[in-house]
Amino acid sequence: MKKFGIIGPGAVGTSIAYALQTSNLDVTLFGRENDTIDFHEFNQTNVTTMKVHRLKSSSNKVDFLFISVKTTQLDAILPYINNVIHDDTVIILTQNGYGQIDKIQHPLTYQAVVYISGQKDNHTVTHFRDWTLKLPINEHTRLLQDATKNSMINVECIEDYDKQVWYKLIVNLGINTITAITQKPAVVLQSEGISELCYNLLAEGKMVALAEGIQFEDNLEESIMQIYKGYPDEMGTSMYYDTMNHRPLELEYIQGYIYQISKKHHLNTPLLDSTYTILNTY
Ligand code: NDP
Repeated sequence: MKKFGIIGPGAVGTSIAYALQTSNLDVTLFGRENDTIDFHEFNQTNVTTMKVHRLKSSSNKVDFLFISVKTTQLDAILPYINNVIHDDTVIILTQNGYGQIDKIQHPLTYQAVVYISGQKDNHTVTHFRDWTLKLPINEHTRLLQDATKNSMINVECIEDYDKQVWYKLIVNLGINTITAITQKPAVVLQSEGISELCYNLLAEGKMVALAEGIQFEDNLEESIMQIYKGYPDEMGTSMYYDTMNHRPLELEYIQGYIYQISKKHHLNTPLLDSTYTILNTY
């Protein structure tokens, strides 16, 4: 039986662990210390308590490893990944942003575009919606897809992976940037000036993607603004909450990644440049 491991008993990591465990798969959740974490579905009272194993002292080798710490926490776990993998382990990075995969010195490493929504508060994870991980299509990601096919996790191995990566980057660029900078949740979009800023940021993101050969539909900005309009007024983004709670921002691999690509192509992206510069001071 294949073994699964997850590093990072947070919103995404615990949700994945729960989904695999309920299908009777062999799952180990690795965290900072030996501990437990409670998991429940939004609006449901049923709580499942899951065991967390101290990564630093683990030696349980797994066949599939999900890395679900935040991008700002990746460096701290790098020295311990070898504790829990063997040569053929397939590693899946389940993080927002892009570019951080180069930090992992293991050939079979892939980054997922994550559509699993949840939140961790102290010792409890609440899962809100979605169970999808989008991955590039190859023999290793296919192995994962096959190994998880009877679970709630929906592994999609897709041909247009790069486009999906850029789509998520641009969606995050707009709403994360404006909610973090203004320190206000989604309601801030009702301000005309902010809504225009957000739209124009999306347009710059689209231009950067195009320079990388990723072509989106002409109405990309409108369609993403429409998605934002569906957000409840009080809904924040991860970058908004990180700003409000004075936690490190996942800036380097979201805005920072797009910024680096913009510079590489000598593009004129004044809003991206200035908002990224401001966020860097937080
Ligand atoms: P969380 O903060 O909920 O989870 C991160 C977990 O990693 C925490 O349990 C944290 O523990 C643990 N961790 C941190 N450092 C270490 C370490 N050194 N050793 C072991 N464990 C450690 O983050 P999310 O699950 O929300 O986010 C993970 C990634 O997924 C991010 O890149 C995020 O942008 C992305 N994402 C999140 C979504 C969501 O809805 N939450 C949706 C889509 C993508 P501790 O609490 O002790 O720090």
